[in-house]
Amino acid sequence: MFVSVIVAAGGSGTRLGAGTPKQLLDIGGQSMLVRTVGAFAGHPRVSEIVVVLPTANMGEAISSTKPVHIVAGGARRQDSVAHGFARVSPDAEIVLVHDAARPFVSAALIDRTIEAAAIHGAVIPALDVKDTVKRIKANRLIVETLPRDAIVLAQTPQAFRRHVLAAAIAAGRPDIEATDEAMLAERAGHPVYVVGGDPRNVKITTPDDLDAARRQSAPARTGRAGTGYDLHRLVEGRALILGGVTIPSTKGALGYSDADVVCHAVTDAVLGAVGLGDIGRHFPDTDPEWKNASSVDLLKRAVALVRDAGYEVGNVDVTVILETPKIKDHVDAMRANIASALGVDASRVSVKGKTNEGVDAIGRGEAIAAHAIALLRRV
Ligand code: MG
Repeated sequence: MFVSVIVAAGGSGTRLGAGTPKQLLDIGGQSMLVRTVGAFAGHPRVSEIVVVLPTANMGEAISSTKPVHIVAGGARRQDSVAHGFARVSPDAEIVLVHDAARPFVSAALIDRTIEAAAIHGAVIPALDVKDTVKRIKANRLIVETLPRDAIVLAQTPQAFRRHVLAAAIAAGRPDIEATDEAMLAERAGHPVYVVGGDPRNVKITTPDDLDAARRQSAPARTGRAGTGYDLHRLVEGRALILGGVTIPSTKGALGYSDADVVCHAVTDAVLGAVGLGDIGRHFPDTDPEWKNASSVDLLKRAVALVRDAGYEVGNVDVTVILETPKIKDHVDAMRANIASALGVDASRVSVKGKTNEGVDAIGRGEAIAAHAIALLRRV
């Protein structure tokens, strides 16, 4: 069955965006129109798409694996649809008419309307009304309460057998202004069947609608954050290695590897941001391979794991807590080592030192700790 789709994008309403027709506004990296056309182009039952655009926007590029024809819109909606219908292939048996401003049309809804149109000749999707419905006068006084179960809210795509839409378009020629094709089909004497609509198939009309659509479609531009924490005992006879830098000290950190709390905290932050567990899972201290391992090397391996998962490091910030010695003279060397392991510029790595004001085990010089946060983004 040959199915054609007319996408009505003929309106030049620029209420939503400075000087740009709303169907060309960006939603999550694609224009509303490209999203809408894509929904049909990606549907296996759709054979061709006719896009009706304002004359000024006919150069709009739409790439698609299905044939897409672009025609100029008319003064009223029904004129635009008539222009689109004139371009529909002679092979078309079912013709759908859809608002460009409904980019979230689902494949299931498209299926539903095509199937019902084949049976009934004319079909619209519609939503039941949940609110109480009032008819009002121009002075905003209520005339009456309408029976809610006798009312539905019409959506698109509206679907027709070809001859039914031809009759509907002919009915639109005189001086009537139709807001949808079903109204014209009714005028032409064709019963119009109603199938269930889709609440997600919203018509983007107001700035609030546009904001909601953008929020819904936005890729995770904010990235993913992870935190890391590590603590090691400080004992005599061990080197104090922080961020891959050996720091002169009477005590060093006790541990299976080189006990570098800075690298361990950063490694956990990087792994945690992507949900890959922690350092102990990937480099267990029960595995001889990691005995006295360089923690800069472990961090490098963790970064390779998150790269495989499709992420890269944006930035890292570390706070080291130890009573003595002061680390400030070694901070730049630590940043350079960590940045090199992360594969980023040193400007994306921050290391800060703090004491614990003599309080608790860290304050007494019995331990050293580090906190880290990492922000990762999709490659
Ligand atoms: Mg550790």
